Amino acid sequence: MTALSPIVVVDGVSKRFGALTALDDVSLSVLPGAVQCIVGPPGSGKSTLLRCIGQCETIDAGSITVAGEPIGHLRLDIASQHLMTGMVFPHPDLSDQMTVLQTLIERPLTLLKRPRREIVAEAMALLDRVGLAEKRDSYPSELSGGQQQRVAIVRALAMRPQVMLFDEPTSALDPEHAGEVLAAMRDLAATGMTMIVATRERDFVRKVASNVAVMDRARIVEQGPPQRVSERAFVRSLGGER
Ligand code: ADP
Ligand code: MG
Repeated sequence: MTALSPIVVVDGVSKRFGALTALDDVSLSVLPGAVQCIVGPPGSGKSTLLRCIGQCETIDAGSITVAGEPIGHLRLDIASQHLMTGMVFPHPDLSDQMTVLQTLIERPLTLLKRPRREIVAEAMALLDRVGLAEKRDSYPSELSGGQQQRVAIVRALAMRPQVMLFDEPTSALDPEHAGEVLAAMRDLAATGMTMIVATRERDFVRKVASNVAVMDRARIVEQGPPQRVSERAFVRSLGGER
């Protein structure tokens, strides 16, 4: 029996913005199909870590691989970026000019060499999965924040990425709409998608995470299965205590 090898390997990564160190010797391995949660107080480096894995930032030291591919430096090839990692930000960032279906098919149509018919069918199947099939012709302004965020999730999925990255995807939503998005993420986890999720949603972490990394001041200070992560780490990640 061979041991499963990690699909994401972050090894000794440091990232500076001028004099500020945003990541200080951070190491993290994520197995295929795992839900890796990242918690920690505001400013601890969660977004920077996700942005480095998602190739939105270059790193100053260490290495990152996704599915065996080294990521450390910005790639110009946008297609391979979206094929490797799909990213969901705190705000859905949808174009006002495009309907839900147009939003989903735009990147696959321009970046993938696949027939339009197939891309549309897959987009519809994704919309159906998050309960938004009937919104295919709606514009973002006609959707709730939770619906918009679900569209942002399936927009990323439409590129069939190896790994999904979520940066506090419910932090801008009220609890009811946050619940819809968290349910969609839980369903996605159940399909075996590898996910790295920065979040303050303690319930989600407790119930869905395979592993939790606790960040503080640019470092990972605690790591383990959710039941082993201290309550204090969650309290601090809400920003109440420093
Ligand atoms: P978190 O997501 O945990 O709140 P961030 O990764 O956003 O933390 O930020 C970590 C640190 O890096 C903070 O001090 C933040 O101000 C700084 N930082 C993040 N992005 C930039 C940037 N583009 N330029 C300068 N400083 C940044
Ligand atoms: Mg952040």
